[in-house]
Amino acid sequence: MVSSLSGLPGIGRKSATRISFHLLRMDPIVFNQFIDSLKVSKETLQFCKICASITEHEICDICNSSTRESRFLCVVEQPEDIFFIEKTGVFSGKYHVLNGAISPLDGIGPDQLRIKELEARIEEGIIQEILLATNPTLEGDATATYISSRLRDSKIKITRIAYGLTVGGTIEYSDQYTLSKAINSRLPFNQ
Ligand SMILES: [Zn+2]
Repeated sequence: MVSSLSGLPGIGRKSATRISFHLLRMDPIVFNQFIDSLKVSKETLQFCKICASITEHEICDICNSSTRESRFLCVVEQPEDIFFIEKTGVFSGKYHVLNGAISPLDGIGPDQLRIKELEARIEEGIIQEILLATNPTLEGDATATYISSRLRDSKIKITRIAYGLTVGGTIEYSDQYTLSKAINSRLPFNQ
């Protein structure tokens, strides 16, 4: 049990041992509900054939939707990013999951990401704007830069999620990377 659990992301041997003891102490009914929820999720959920987000159907509800803007595409690293963007309720377009970000240290290059699939979707001629919503990290930035350079010759408008300080935060407690990005991506401030 410990070796299975320690294979999960973010869980070391120590946490795996603690979780194992917790599972052993669990009420059998609650334990079975927990196991069933894992099994049912694994059996019923799959990756959308178009955007690669997680869905119960071959094509997800967002890709299938006639009310979402097909001309506006948001590119994210992971399916879970869609969940958080959807919670804001401010994005009305569709999505494309890359399944990661360019990271030479981890051996992840552009070919390991769903960039060819993105270009194929663009070739259909419907998409007019791409919002690059990869993470504001070195890897996410490198990925956004790579994609925008690939699409340089297309007529598509390319935007990137804005960088900034946390709302309610202070300059004093911002890290250097965030602060320098906020200064470099400053916006006109017209009253
Ligand atoms: Zn989809």
